[in-house]
Formats: sequence, structure tokens, C-alpha cells
Amino acid sequence: MSTTAQAISSADAHSAHNYHPLPVVIAHAEGAWMTDVEGRRYLDMLAGYSALNFGHGNRRLLDAARAQLERVTLTSRAFHHDRFAEFCTNLAALCGKEMVLPMNTGAEAVETAVKTARKWGYEVKGVPDGHAKIVVAADNFHGRTTTIVSFSTDHDARDHFGPYTPGFEIVPYGDLTALAAAVTSNTVAVLLEPIQGEAGVLVPPAGYLQGVRELTRERNVLFMADEIQSGLGRTGRTFACEHEGVVPDVYILGKALGGGVVPVSAVVADRDVLGVFRPGEHGSTFGGNPLACAVALEVIAMLRGGEYQQRATELGDHLHRELNLLVGGGAVTAVRGRGLWAGVDIDPALGTGREISEKLMELGVLVKDTHGSTIRIAPPLVISKEDLDWGLDQLRSVLGG
Ligand SMILES: *Cc1c(COP(=O)(O)O)cnc(C)c1O
Repeated sequence: MSTTAQAISSADAHSAHNYHPLPVVIAHAEGAWMTDVEGRRYLDMLAGYSALNFGHGNRRLLDAARAQLERVTLTSRAFHHDRFAEFCTNLAALCGKEMVLPMNTGAEAVETAVKTARKWGYEVKGVPDGHAKIVVAADNFHGRTTTIVSFSTDHDARDHFGPYTPGFEIVPYGDLTALAAAVTSNTVAVLLEPIQGEAGVLVPPAGYLQGVRELTRERNVLFMADEIQSGLGRTGRTFACEHEGVVPDVYILGKALGGGVVPVSAVVADRDVLGVFRPGEHGSTFGGNPLACAVALEVIAMLRGGEYQQRATELGDHLHRELNLLVGGGAVTAVRGRGLWAGVDIDPALGTGREISEKLMELGVLVKDTHGSTIRIAPPLVISKEDLDWGLDQLRSVLGG
């Protein structure tokens, strides 16, 4: 048996089968490239679902992590540590907000936002206790906890995990009329992805986010943007909401905030929102730990310069120009996205997303299917133009007419 087959079969024997990974076993990675246990090289065009926006083994991030590893890695929030204030101050400034509540994973940040909205609803808005409603969109992806899957419309994510947490209202994504109709006096928040990643990189109709902003402001409802996948440079802006000039009340961040080194997530909002928490009401042992803060501080500094956003814009324009040339010619029926982020729909008659992903893997390109007939393309923002073009050549040879 090959080293690859051996590694896969022993993983299959002793890990829960909650994922269906491509049959490749990575041993090393740098920049936009990964190397498997047999020395084959692959161009990473998924970037850990945007957790690796700054590439594998980014020197600045590794140096920041290494320096912090030698000093102190964990204190718990029982004590202050000397990277915490700077992290909160700088992240709040990056978001144009006043306060930060750090957690670890994306799902925890979404849970934190849900708790924030409910508490704000009862203590600030005056919703009767126990009656808070949060409006969410169909086909959302916000994580895997029991509360979050309670408002998923994906059967795989949701079925047989009930009883479900009540208090959520689901409306079609991109439909302002349905959203307006769902908001009542007990609605405390609208929770949305500004671009739906897992659903296939769905960009809402122009004006939708602005409409959500106006509606939520008029009705005294929090607009909570889950920018875990869309944020931090991916779309060519620090936040995908910026494409419509929209500032939500609450940013939910994760993935790239930890630089692909450590899990770091956060909820960021003004004092009138995050100020609802008092000691003991929420927390996390690892949330805001010194190592996480040190890495995230470097991520924030890198985003402040704007060069990653610029790269995502320029390389993204190129990516979309080239992908759009494939539409209708071969296996590609539609392309969506923004910046260095694309969902490519495959004609189901010509192969599943999985089959296409496996063919691309054989050619040295790693992407992943989502929802059957879509592949998601999201290379690290540090990818070179030449490497992107090489990746596009491979895509063309598999998908072209
Ligand atoms: C990945 C993701 C999450 C969940 O993050 P985890 O770190 O996997 O818990 C939530 N929302 C969006 C939009 C995501 O892409």
C-alpha cells in the first residue's frame, strides 16, 4: 500500500467520518503550495476556507507566534496579560468599533453574537424576556453547534440533531421584502453572511446589504454580519460589507484572524451593544490568549497596510475574467464571487463537484466541492500571478469546452 493509502486508511479507522476529504495527505506547505507525504506538490486554491488568506508558513505570522511562544501562551482571563489590550484596541480600530469580545472558533463567535443580540434585546431594546427573535437567511452557514444548526436549512447539517434552539426566523437570502415582513417588535437582530460562502459563494443582489442596513436601523434591530469567511481581505476589501458602503452593528470574525496558525475569532461592536456583558455572563478559557493575540495583532497590522486587499482586487479581477470565459463553453454553467473568491457551477451532466476536484488534484490543484455541483476557489491572497495562471490552466483543461 502507498504511504498515502496507508495514512488514509488508518485515519478512516480511528476518526469519526464527519468529513469526506480528497485523497491527499499533506506533510508540508509554504505560501500557496502544499507538498504531500510522497513529495507531490499542489497549488492550494482553497486556503483552509479562507483561514489561510496570508498563505502557509507566512514569515511575519510565524515570527510573531515564535516570539510569543517563548514568552507566555496562556493565562486564562482570570488575569490580564500584556498583549490583550493592544489586540482589542487594534481590532476595534480596524473595524471602526469600540469593543471586542474574543473567542476561538467561528461557531463560538456566532454563538457569542447570538447571546449578545438576545441580551441587548432584553436589556436595551426592551423585548419581553424569552421572546427575542433573530432573523437569518436560508442556505446560511454559521457553524456546527446545536444552536447554529437549529437555524440551518441544510439537511446534512441539521437532521437528527434536534431538539432545536427556538428563536430564529428563516427568510430567503437576498429578498428584502421577505426580510421586512419577518422583522417584528421582538426581533433583536438580523444575522447574515454578506456573501454566502458555503452555499456556493452567493453574492446578494446589488443594494441588498444597504437595504438590510436601512431596515435594521429603522426598526431598531442589530445588523450582525458574519464576515468569518468573507472578511479580512478575501473580497478585495477588509470587509465584504464595504462593497456596498455598509457598516453593520456587529462584525463576526474568525478564520483568517488567526493567520492559519491558531484559532482566533471575535465579535466586534460598539459599547452600546457589547457593553451588555458583565463578569461571569460569557467567556472562554482560550479566548483572547496571548499567543492568539500576538498572531492576530500581526494579521491586523498586515491588513492595515491594504496590500492584501489590493492583491485580492487585482488578482480577483483576473480570476473572474478568466473564469467567465469558461461559462457556457464546457462544463461551467455559472461563476460568482468577488475578489479572490469564486463559486464555479458545473453542469451536473458532465460531472459532480467532487469528480472535478479529484481530477484537479491529479493535475496538482487543490479545490473542494460544495453542495454537489459547485467548486469553491479561494487561493491564499499571497498567490503569485504566475501560479494563479498555472492553476487556471489546469482548471481550463478540466472544465474547458
Ligand atoms: C467557517 C465559518 C463559520 C464557522 O467557523 P468555525 O471556525 O469552523 O467554527 C461560521 N460562519 C462562516 C460564514 C464560515 O465560513
